[in-house]
This record gives sequence, C-alpha cells and structure tokens, in this order.
Amino acid sequence: MSTDTPAAPETGAHAEPHTETHAFQADVQQVLQLVIHSLYSNRDIFLRELISNASDACEKLRFEAIEAPALLADGSGTAADLAIDLLVDADAGTVTVRDNGIGMSRDELMHNLGTVAHSGTRRFLERFAGGGPVDAQLIGQFGVGFYSAFIVADRVEVTSRRADSAEAWTWRSSGDGQFTLEPAPAGTPRGTAIRLHLREDAGDYAQPWKLRSLVRTYSDHVAFPIRMETPAKPAEDGAAPEAPTLETINQAAALWTRPKNELSDDDYKGFYKHLTHDFDDPLAWTHNRVEGHQNFTSLLYLPAHAPFDFQAGRDERKGLKLYVKRVFIMDAAEQMLPAYLRFVRGVVDSDDLPLNVSRELLQDSKQVERIKAALVKRTLDLLEKIAAEEPERYATFWEAFGNTLKEGIAEDNANRERVLKLMRFATTRSANAEDRVSLDDYIGRMAGAQEEIYYLTADGWNAARLHPKLEALKARGVEVILMHERIDDWMSGYLHEYAGKRLRNVAKGEIDLDALGSAEDKAKHEEAAKAAAPLVDTLKAALGEQVKDVRVSNRLVDSAACLVLDEYEMSMQMQKLMKSLGQDAPAGKPVLEINPDHALLKRLEAAAGDEALVGDYARLLFDQAMLAETGALDDPATFIARMNRLLAG
Ligand code: ADP
Ligand code: MG
Repeated sequence: MSTDTPAAPETGAHAEPHTETHAFQADVQQVLQLVIHSLYSNRDIFLRELISNASDACEKLRFEAIEAPALLADGSGTAADLAIDLLVDADAGTVTVRDNGIGMSRDELMHNLGTVAHSGTRRFLERFAGGGPVDAQLIGQFGVGFYSAFIVADRVEVTSRRADSAEAWTWRSSGDGQFTLEPAPAGTPRGTAIRLHLREDAGDYAQPWKLRSLVRTYSDHVAFPIRMETPAKPAEDGAAPEAPTLETINQAAALWTRPKNELSDDDYKGFYKHLTHDFDDPLAWTHNRVEGHQNFTSLLYLPAHAPFDFQAGRDERKGLKLYVKRVFIMDAAEQMLPAYLRFVRGVVDSDDLPLNVSRELLQDSKQVERIKAALVKRTLDLLEKIAAEEPERYATFWEAFGNTLKEGIAEDNANRERVLKLMRFATTRSANAEDRVSLDDYIGRMAGAQEEIYYLTADGWNAARLHPKLEALKARGVEVILMHERIDDWMSGYLHEYAGKRLRNVAKGEIDLDALGSAEDKAKHEEAAKAAAPLVDTLKAALGEQVKDVRVSNRLVDSAACLVLDEYEMSMQMQKLMKSLGQDAPAGKPVLEINPDHALLKRLEAAAGDEALVGDYARLLFDQAMLAETGALDDPATFIARMNRLLAG
C-alpha cells in the first residue's frame, strides 16, 4: 500500500457505530516502527514532544485569535488562560497531555496523525530506513515527534475539538497499521487531549514525580503554564471531599523577556533545547534588547553542530522565530537572516511590527531591514568575541559552519571585511587540513618583500598541499594559504583585498616571484628563459591550439610543467564543476609553463627531429599538468596509451 491518502473507511463487523477505521499511510507505519524500536533507550523524549506540540497549538490559537478574537472566547476565556495540563491516573495506567490550544478537526486528525504531512518524514525514512541507529536527538526536528507517544504507550487516544468548531473527534490507535476516528461527546472542551495507555514496562511515567522531573529537564521554558493535576480526594470519615487542583510546574514565561541578570547559563541552554529540539548544548548565544527608534528583543544561538538537514536548507530556511509583542507569528529566518548565517537559531520579538504582519510585508519592510542588519551585527559580534577569546570553541564553530560563513564574502558586501576576519585557512605551514590560521595571523607572519596575501585554490587538501605551483614559493619560504574546500574556488572570485593587502591567487596569472627572491634568482630565471627559447618553440608547434602560450616557469622546482590561467579567468576546477552541472563554461585557454631543468624536458629536447616522439612528450606534459590541476582528464585512455608507448619505448 503506498497511496497518498488513507484507505477509505471500512465498516467492518467489529467497528463501533460511527467508528471509521483507516490505514496509516505506508510511510507513517514505517516511521512508527522505527521510532518505537529504535528509541527505546530514549523513552523520556515522548513528553517533551507532546508538550512541544501542545505549546505549538496554543501559539497557533493565539495567532489566529489576532484576526478572530472570538476563537479565544470559545471555552476558556483569554489568551492568558492558555495552558498545558498533565493528568495521571495511576490505577488505569494512563497519562494525559491536554491543551486548550487550536485543536484539530476530523480531517486534521486524519492527515496530521495518519499521513506524511511533512517533508521531514520522507527525509527521516531516507536517513534511517537503511537500518542505522535512529538518533533520538533528531526525532523532533524531523516533524515526527507525535509518534514518540507509542514508545511508552501501546494505545493512544487523541480527543480534539478545533477552536472554531462545535464538533469534537477521537482518534485511536495501537500503532499497528491502522487508526480509528469517531465523534466525541458534545461539550468536549476546546483543544486536544492525548491519552496514553502506558505499556506495562513504562508504568513509571504514571508517577507525578517522574513527570515533574522531565518537565523541569526538557520543557521548563515552554512559555505556557504546564500544570500537574493532583487528583480529587473523595470524602473520607466525614472530611469534606477535595477538588482536583492544578499546580504550575514550569517557569511559564517567555525567557527572552526576562532580564539577563536573572537568567543562568542553564536557563539559556534549556531554552535552546526547547526551541531547536537539539539535545546538545548550544555553542554560544547573544541576548539583546534594543530600545529607541525601534524596539525589539533578540536571542540568537550558535548550535554546536550542523542540524541534519542543514545543507539542504539554503532555500528552505528556518530556525528564527518571529514574535510580535510575545505572540508567535511565524518562522522568519528567510526574511530576517542572510543565507550565509542560516546556522543561527533563535527568537526575535518586535514591539513595533503589526500583529497581522504577513510574509509579503516582511519582505519589503524598512523595519525588517533594520532588524536584519542588527541581527547580522549581533551574530558577527558574537563570532568575533568567541574567535578572540576562545579559539578552540571557535574552531568547533568553524568546523561545523565555516563553509557556510564563506558565502558571506559574496553575499554581504557591506560586511566583507568583517567576514574575512572570521575566516580560517590551512596554509603551506599547517600540519594538516584542520590546522588553520586567520588572515591576520598570516599577515603577521609575512616576511621580507612580500606585500600580498598569497593563496592557492585546489580540489582537495592533498591536491593543494602538493601542488606544483607552490614549489618555488616553498623553496623561498613564502607561506601560501591553501584553499581546498569545494566552495573556495567560487569564493575566491570575490576575494580582492583584506586589511589593505591584495589577495593573490598564485595559481593564476604571472607572479613577480623575483621580487621575493634575490637579484641572483632573477638573473638566473632570465637566463634559463633565453636558453630554453627553442624548446618553447618546439612545444608551441606541437601543442598548437591547445594552449594560449608556452613559457619558462618561475614557479616550478621539482615538477616538469604546470598550466596557468590569466588572473581573471575562471579556474579549471570551476570549469570542470560547471561542466559537471551541465552548464556552459567559458573555456579559457591555459598557458603551459615548463621547467627546462626537468629530465623530461631534456628528453624532449633530445628528441628534436622525431615529430611523433616530440608530440607524445608534449601532450604527456600537458595532460600531467591538467591532472595536477583538476584531478581528471577528458580522455584518460589516450593519455595512458601515450604514457605506455613512452615507457615501453
Ligand atoms: P511537528 O510538531 O514537527 O509538526 P509532530 O509529529 O510532533 O510534528 O506533530 C504532527 C502534527 O500533528 C503537528 O504538526 C500538528 O499539526 C498536529 N498536532 C500534534 N499535536 C497537536 C496538538 N496538541 N494540537 C494540535 N495539533 C497537534
Ligand atoms: Mg512536534
């Protein structure tokens, strides 16, 4: 069964009157089984997930009530009355999580709890159906949190009435492939009650102390009161019966509205976990209140690691919740954070935006522009502070998000210098690819006549580290930044200057290496070029249209040849990448630079007159240089045949 809608209702012999039986969508059934079987050791999370859904439902109601205040009057009073209650019946072995939020209609019960309502579900399956361990930390992030109820319960009943409707419905399932729907009695209060019939070995969860401790650990910062019910006591020996009481067991205040000096690190960490469903602590945060021309509060977090769907998220961004005067409006990451800061999570609460603000309005609002600029500034401030004060922590950040931050070099002109300051790169002096320095460190180590910042882009760490074009620079002791990540080559198109120094790609154009060496070096190079003039002519004739020019290199020491493009031409790696994406790449013709001292070129010289042999050597040189540059050849078979001819010859 793999239909996209649940099967039509059955009216089997066992069904109650008015009870409809539906099959779970196949994907849902699979998610359920995975969740139940793999999260057994993390059973506690069910409560956090159900409370988080209840809190979402309260926020949705408050939001819808902006346009339709009557929604709140339905049932219990005002926005201030929104709450989440935990009810325990130890004898029956049940726990109920009840909210008076937006509720669900019959169709919503069916679709939200019985079909793949989220793109996350499919991603969840793609990631875990292969049999790998399911990560408890991720379940809430995938939008499959509700199903965690079945980790502790063998039967789940959801009774719900939507805020604008008189009809209430009950959804029931044992998590075994199907669920039922039937009307609930008239008078069912607004909102949703989720009743869990605990599995035999999950009886602990019917203990109020256990629930309290879970709420304190995972849900303390839910902004609505979470209340624990003390059951009614019947009349005993003439004493009056006691009505059930509800006691609030969490902070129940929007954390960002509280003064900083009243908040502990644990408060901030707890709120982060509530906000992101991340089980790990955040790396850092910044909490600010801006008053004056525009009033808003922001609380921004840097996660310690990339969330599961992070790279997928350049277009579809989330993680920055917009509130207006404490009312949750929408996720506004796309409108309020630039793409290169999409790892930031947090909350913005504005006093000035209208409550009925729409996505379209956010898109071109001056106010939003100003908030966005302030958030960028806060984030960069925070990053600079960590970079300066806690380099190791900053290294953790860089490992997770450095490549994302690099996009800022292209995306954020106004802050390019600040973003560049935050960059970390390995260089020719690094012990390994993770041994990185800042541009300031690099400049501090520049010696002698060096006035420019040298870098090389290559496809991979080893290709960069061992690149032939570094030979002469290494021999002269000049440090070169090695940009070996996928994004670097693209980014380098936007690298022009830092701290008044030119950034120079040593793989391109002609470098005045002689300025770095001695007058003696310079004279030697000129002499070599003169002596090799006939060799250069031979190569030009043999390679013809393949090259723009042939010249004697001043970059090489050990290698025979390399290919060089003009400074402003698209690199060969980039050309390769574009071709692989099926796009037209402007093919800039390279210059072949040779090292006349190399044995291979001596042989070529000696072969003068034998046109076939010269041709083989020339093309071999060219292909080798191409391999060193891009790691691939268009026609490897011919290359191998030619090499074998020469080896065997
Ligand atoms: P997510 O919360 O990420 O959307 P869940 O699996 O936790 O994923 O919940 C699925 C959906 O079920 C929610 O998006 C919501 O529409 C609905 N839902 C769950 N619990 C409630 C509730 N208490 N009140 C209203 N709707 C709910
Ligand atoms: Mg949820």
